[in-house]
Amino acid sequence: MAIRDGFIGSVGNTPLLRLGRLCDETGCEILAKAEFLNPGGSVKDRAARFILEDAERQGRLAPGGTVVEGTAGNTGIGLAHICAARGYRCIIVIPDNQSPEKLDLLRTLGAEVRPVPPKPYKDPDNYQKIAGRLADELPGAIWANQFDNIANRQAHYATTGPEIWAETGGRVDAFVCATGTGGTLAGVARYLKERDSKVRIVLADPMGSALYNWVKTGELLAEGSSITEGIGTTRVTANLEGTPIDDAVQVDDPACVAMVYRLLREEGLFVGGSSGINLAAAVQVARELGPGHTIVTLLCDRGGLYAGRLFNSQWLQEKGLAEAAGIAVG
Ligand code: PMP
Repeated sequence: MAIRDGFIGSVGNTPLLRLGRLCDETGCEILAKAEFLNPGGSVKDRAARFILEDAERQGRLAPGGTVVEGTAGNTGIGLAHICAARGYRCIIVIPDNQSPEKLDLLRTLGAEVRPVPPKPYKDPDNYQKIAGRLADELPGAIWANQFDNIANRQAHYATTGPEIWAETGGRVDAFVCATGTGGTLAGVARYLKERDSKVRIVLADPMGSALYNWVKTGELLAEGSSITEGIGTTRVTANLEGTPIDDAVQVDDPACVAMVYRLLREEGLFVGGSSGINLAAAVQVARELGPGHTIVTLLCDRGGLYAGRLFNSQWLQEKGLAEAAGIAVG
């Protein structure tokens, strides 16, 4: 299909990229879906589209309606684009410690941004819970609820999974990715396992997230912290529940940053921290499986969103990560 129907029509069907240097190094096919080429710049465009289309189909969202979401980033960007295209009011509740670039971008896209003080999930004034209450109070409003609305994982079951299967001709030995809401891993894992139960599903986790230990031991236990954004969690969301997961890999910040800068310098790919976690984990899985296997993962979003942090040498130095990035420490 040469002509796509506007923003919504151009979500998904991203290219599957072969990362040549990582393939040479491991003897495996290391492949990554270029999700940063989605029209809103991230994998979350897929979830935003499915959540809104699902609400429209159910008659919960109609012309003149309002979409409310608690989000620190990419989902809000995807929702704001689609709301503009569909004529919905978009309200984004966001913790006020997020980068000013994100708030500015959301406002530019037409969203009403409501910064709130950061609070843990169990607090009633956590940003996600504030978003839920706000949607309840506003007539004609829906709460997108990306963490527990399974239209999110359905997006990946219906699109990302089948795309990977078709693009590899069904030759996938492992699928590896980090989770925020868990929608991507849950949807892709279900689809690939249905096609071939031998496909190995591996959860990639940053430090500070509880899911590595959850997969390994059944206990939700978090250790350390991470500079990555949009991934890592301390609870099992409705989207993640019931996902067939075979193993987990933990990636620390130095390994993540080193991979982000390798992708930039060796592959010419300018992507964010979760892509670094994904590819570092993919290489680890390739080493475990040995040469001749095909490992698929995702390049989740664009590096430009992180200009003030991950791609700022002073910030990296402050975090003790300049060396990992290959930047001379002065
Ligand atoms: N990478 C980035 C940059 C993200 O914003 C997100 C979503 N928060 C993810 C990865 C994880 O995707 P999912 O929510 O489907 O688990």
